[in-house]
Amino acid sequence: MTLLRRRLLDTPHSGIRRMLELAREVPDPLLLVSGDPNFRTPEHIIAGAAEAALGGATGYAPAVGIAPLRAAIAKKLAQVNRIAADADQICVVTGACGGLYTTLLLLVGPGDDVLIPNPGWSNYAAMVHVLGGRAVGYPVGPSTGWKLDPEAVEAAVSAQTRAIILNSPGNPAGVMWTPESLQSVVALAARRGIPVVSDEAYDELVFEGEPFSVGSVATSPELISVFTFSKTYAMTGWRIGYVHSDADFARQLSLHQEPVTSGASMVSQHAALAALEGPQLAVSEMVSAYGQRRDQVIDLLRASDVGFVRPHGAFYLMVDIRATGCGSWEFATELLRGRGVGVVPGLAFGSEGEGYVRVSLAVAPEVLREGVTRLLDLHRELASRNG
Ligand code: PLP
Repeated sequence: MTLLRRRLLDTPHSGIRRMLELAREVPDPLLLVSGDPNFRTPEHIIAGAAEAALGGATGYAPAVGIAPLRAAIAKKLAQVNRIAADADQICVVTGACGGLYTTLLLLVGPGDDVLIPNPGWSNYAAMVHVLGGRAVGYPVGPSTGWKLDPEAVEAAVSAQTRAIILNSPGNPAGVMWTPESLQSVVALAARRGIPVVSDEAYDELVFEGEPFSVGSVATSPELISVFTFSKTYAMTGWRIGYVHSDADFARQLSLHQEPVTSGASMVSQHAALAALEGPQLAVSEMVSAYGQRRDQVIDLLRASDVGFVRPHGAFYLMVDIRATGCGSWEFATELLRGRGVGVVPGLAFGSEGEGYVRVSLAVAPEVLREGVTRLLDLHRELASRNG
């Protein structure tokens, strides 16, 4: 068996997938699990894609992305992220997943270390594992007050470190790290010649504070920023995103797209173009809906005196379950089997997530309300029994 095959087979199972599998055994579960928006892709985006497809845009696209889309992305990066970007610094990819994986493929080999946030999105560790590298967590949970601590990042650096992954606003806590802390990490990485991969999948889903893209200030050639249409425009199924880097790296990324995917789907690229060029009202409506859901959940948690991490963006909220005396897997399993509600155990995102469960806000408000109410019932019951 090839090494890659063996690594694929023993890749740690995503906690999100595991919860969804467990949920299949439960009748009519309320799932507050996945990061897939409950909104449909806005109609003008679907119409743009359909029009392009009917007009003949159904063939292979250039591996690096179609020219009008790369130009529109450069404009968006300047306007929204304050990143001065040329079109030749952009490679269109199959979602942030595709962008992150190809980026890591270029940076990481067997025996290399990659620093990832702990807690952090579980796919980072899985990608690094598949590439034969070692994912090393830097704490951004309870032990740092849910902040990015540049000293803690530096302490995790070794002679084998080949990349540092940043994610703000982040999954699973929705926390935005300060521009100062982000810049310090970029500076320390530049000093040591370590590339930084900034996963900005949630760059526009911000309901509190000023969003900040590291690419807006850092001039390091070793800074690679990954973006996606999935979350901002409710386009998870279109599999379309983009990477900003220096022109050389962008070309290398495109060289890799060629043999593996032949480039992102032409139809999806036209959908993405319609998203960037069309009205942005749907985005602000979705952001405000996520913000309202966050506030409603916070009201429910406060009324029950249950702790949580206040998210500034993305669409997740970490609920503190430590008072129940249960571990996060135990709590989440009991919640699913006993009350029919699916959440993700914090431990699935790394050791720093233990003591918390992640609630997704990307679900219908009535499902969210009922799910959180049942979660609080269980919390109360366990806290009084074990507390
Ligand atoms: N990065 C983070 C932090 C995510 O949470 C997700 C999806 O949940 C992704 C990247 C992947 O997004 P995409 O659908 O663009 O592959």
